[in-house]
Amino acid sequence: MRPRQVVVLGYGMAGARLAEEIRRRDPDGTRVALTVVGEEPHHAYNRVLLSALLAGTMRPEAVRMHDEDWAGEHGVTLRLGVPATRVDRPARRVELADGSAVGYDSLVLATGSKPVPPPVEGLLGEDGSPAEGVVAFRSLDDCERILDLAQVGAPVAVIGGGLLGLEAARGLAGRGNLVTVVHQVGHLMERQLDHEGGRVLARTLGELGVEFRLGISAARYQPGDGLKLDDGSQVEADLVVVSAGVRAQTSLAAEAGIDVDRGVLVDDALRTSDGRVHAIGDCAQHPGTVSGLVQPAWEQAEVLADLLTGTSTAARYRGTPVVTRLKARDVDLASVGEALTEVTDDTAEVLSLSDPRRGRYGKLVIRDDRVAGAILLGCPDAAATITQLYDRGVPVPEDRLALLLGRAMPSGAEAVDSPAELPSAAKVCQCNSVTKGRLVEAYRDGATTVPELATATRATTGCGDCANAVQEIANWLTPE
Ligand SMILES: Cc1cc2nc3c(=O)[nH]c(=O)nc-3n(C[C@H](O)[C@H](O)[C@H](O)COP(=O)(O)OP(=O)(O)OC[C@H]3O[C@@H](n4cnc5c(N)ncnc54)[C@H](O)[C@@H]3O)c2cc1C
Repeated sequence: MRPRQVVVLGYGMAGARLAEEIRRRDPDGTRVALTVVGEEPHHAYNRVLLSALLAGTMRPEAVRMHDEDWAGEHGVTLRLGVPATRVDRPARRVELADGSAVGYDSLVLATGSKPVPPPVEGLLGEDGSPAEGVVAFRSLDDCERILDLAQVGAPVAVIGGGLLGLEAARGLAGRGNLVTVVHQVGHLMERQLDHEGGRVLARTLGELGVEFRLGISAARYQPGDGLKLDDGSQVEADLVVVSAGVRAQTSLAAEAGIDVDRGVLVDDALRTSDGRVHAIGDCAQHPGTVSGLVQPAWEQAEVLADLLTGTSTAARYRGTPVVTRLKARDVDLASVGEALTEVTDDTAEVLSLSDPRRGRYGKLVIRDDRVAGAILLGCPDAAATITQLYDRGVPVPEDRLALLLGRAMPSGAEAVDSPAELPSAAKVCQCNSVTKGRLVEAYRDGATTVPELATATRATTGCGDCANAVQEIANWLTPE
């Protein structure tokens, strides 16, 4: 039987993971002949770790997902450094920028998203690419360009006070740059934080050396001079890092007549309006899923690999409850679910506590006795307990305030001192949705070190935040 021709457009975090998952299920390629087309010249890398690379806490080799031999060793045809330019649905083929074409039985769009340049005069050159001294923050090449341009002590302006802008700002401040964040909204991270949360965060980052111009827009960029703001003031900058939002890459789908809204519309089988074309990751729009995060992209890759290899035709993607964390040294911030619900909202139980001087802010939104949302800044104990309750959808303890203070001891969900006390269903690795139970099972199957547990379960291979927790579980299981 001829293997099914599957073509994946995009060799980013979703496309690379899908290729891995297909080969896990079909190692010798008898069911699926796989071609991956990637616009970037690099082999797959972990985009989530670019913030750590920028901050200097990680080396470039550590962000690699696949080495140069990966595709050859796994029987995958890889077309690197060449974008797909057109999907010809009647002929079932994709045209590439080098004039070649690839036929498909099933096509997967995994083209991710791209930064949206804000409407600031002078940011773009005549050809539409960033002007001299201006860099977006999305790719490995962007990251390398920023590090080239950001000499120690040099003033840097960051346009955008969202998650990525702040990670870049904190990273560069930690490297010795004088960083000013210009954010047109009145408080930081307005998609994940309410006004008070944003205010406490600005204070905390301010103490770490980052300056802010909030509620003001950049109006004009002058190379060598910096940014002119719309109140007439000036921000000195040798380098401007732009992180003012991203847009799903939907043009291939839209031009091929596939239904598109903010992203390419998909159902629970990750099918677009054309049943032979699927979409996953940042470019896809699934009802009820927050896009722009890696955890949904990787869960979608698993479901689609089940479907495309025929491993489980019943596999469906039903959405992912996501936890957003700021990866900035000395700042502990998590935001989950409907974090923006106001304390005055009578339809929910909402508690909040603010301790700006100590950089702490906690907010808890409860519906039907379950965590519906939270903001947890500077309260790691509460964050550990509350994010677990949220992930597992279990009832919260009666004493809500104790929970917010990180002192609650609900059965099976407490902040724990030893992995022994952690419930089996507790999610240890958020990015890969790996529970303690799964790690224990992998350990018993012979994966006894952190690298072995990572290979067996993928825990630690996303943002890497859980590496210590996985080590503790391995230590706990290892006899003295
Ligand atoms: C600095 C940074 C930090 C982040 N931190 C976090 C975090 O802590 N937690 C989290 O959950 N998420 C984080 N994210 C978001 C996360 O990286 C994305 O959600 C994830 O990369 C989505 O995967 P994707 O494959 O859909 O898109 P991408 O990883 O962007 O990959 C898409 C790929 O498709 C390629 N492509 C586009 N068009 C074409 C074409 N026509 N032909 C061929 N190839 C094409 C692109 O060049 C790219 O290589 C971060 C992102 C950045 C930039």
